[in-house]
Amino acid sequence: MAKSYTGDSPTASEISLEPRQSYNQVFQLLEQHHQWFTNSLPLIASENIPSPAVREAVLSDFGNRYAEGWTGERVYAGCKYIDQVEQVCIDLAKQLFKIDFADVRPISGVCANLVAYTTFTNPGDTMLALAIPAGGHISMGKKEFGGTAGAVRGLNVEYFPFDTEEMNIDIDATEKKIQKLAQNGKKPTLAMFGGSVLPFPHPVRELTTIFQQHDSKICFDAAHVAGLVAGGQFQDPLHEGADAMTASTHKTLPGPQGGIILSKAENGERIKKSTFPGNVSNHHLHHLAGKAIMFAEMLAFGREYASQIVKNSRALAQALHERGFQVLGEKKGFTKSHLLVADITKYGDGKTIEKKLEDANIILNRNLLPYDIKAGRHFEAPGGIRAGVSEVTRLGMKESDVVEIADLMTRVVVKGEDPRRVAVDVAEFRKGFQRVQYAFESSKDAYAYIHIR
Ligand SMILES: *Cc1c(COP(=O)(O)O)cnc(C)c1O
Repeated sequence: MAKSYTGDSPTASEISLEPRQSYNQVFQLLEQHHQWFTNSLPLIASENIPSPAVREAVLSDFGNRYAEGWTGERVYAGCKYIDQVEQVCIDLAKQLFKIDFADVRPISGVCANLVAYTTFTNPGDTMLALAIPAGGHISMGKKEFGGTAGAVRGLNVEYFPFDTEEMNIDIDATEKKIQKLAQNGKKPTLAMFGGSVLPFPHPVRELTTIFQQHDSKICFDAAHVAGLVAGGQFQDPLHEGADAMTASTHKTLPGPQGGIILSKAENGERIKKSTFPGNVSNHHLHHLAGKAIMFAEMLAFGREYASQIVKNSRALAQALHERGFQVLGEKKGFTKSHLLVADITKYGDGKTIEKKLEDANIILNRNLLPYDIKAGRHFEAPGGIRAGVSEVTRLGMKESDVVEIADLMTRVVVKGEDPRRVAVDVAEFRKGFQRVQYAFESSKDAYAYIHIR
């Protein structure tokens, strides 16, 4: 067995790897990873498990091809079937989100946001977005933090005023802020709603008029919640005033890693150009096929799936609250999406708690709380944890099952039980949930390792 890598990477002169041994090691590690996830509770809010059908599409030869440009306008040969799949993918996305234009080529959520920035802004423009501790994503971040909007597109990022009690954007304070920015010659060209911690719908409808008065475009980053939007269980930004919506295709949407941007038809031509040649050359065609399969699954099963997600996250939040976790947003019923955030400072810091839970095979992540920076905490050891239920819902769990998850988490975090003992019970509990639900075909276990060597 070759060395296991857990810390610093050796320098080039220290490396003397035997190629075949490393090759074998990679496959061993992959199989171990699959085994681990078979026995674990995957609660990372940005992750999901695609169906075996999506995984099959992703393994196809599409992944080895090029298809720059738009369907029917390629600058590559060999795209006869690729073009048809891309067209099916576009049409399914338009039907799913009930909108006239979809560009399914962005290769990630960040890439989709870059397409939106390219379409609606110029470097030096002002953009309004959530700060990271309030739930914003690094792709909306300021230049000084290396955020994509600031560092890559050169935008001047201003923050939406945020109300911690409500866990939402403060509407009145935002209206004042827009007016003040406009008076100072810095009116926002783009308002970027959405975020990575999004328990409650954002006030798109309430703020559309004022943004329109200032000729600001509105985009909604639905990276996390697109599956809920598609399933009719969250706000529908594109029909509340947003000019565009960006998303990842692998968070609540249970597809392959990727991105998408949707819009009214009037912005279509500009968005197409922003994507190619602006932000992608080739666009990962195997994932395109996987997206098409996932959109079809969502059209057929999305409503049921999204509604169970929201029921599960509320049940988990309530159960954790009753067991001593300080789940944020209590005043509003904790959550209306797939995720919850809890302040765990009573029991330790986010980093320590995350590790203990991981040792119990309960996989979730630490998270900054809206008031962490003021309290002197930072992203490495923040005061919170974030949990999402998309993946366990896809594995077939219902409300009573997530209450069991709350019990298992309580044993580790509140009662201080040895995580390794809890891990045994986690694995036992997981035995009943091995297949992906809400799919046309699911004849393989969710985390089955597929050999084709
Ligand atoms: C995850 C996320 C992204 C980035 O998506 P990737 O697909 O990982 O590039 C963008 N915006 C928000 C709000 C996110 O949570």
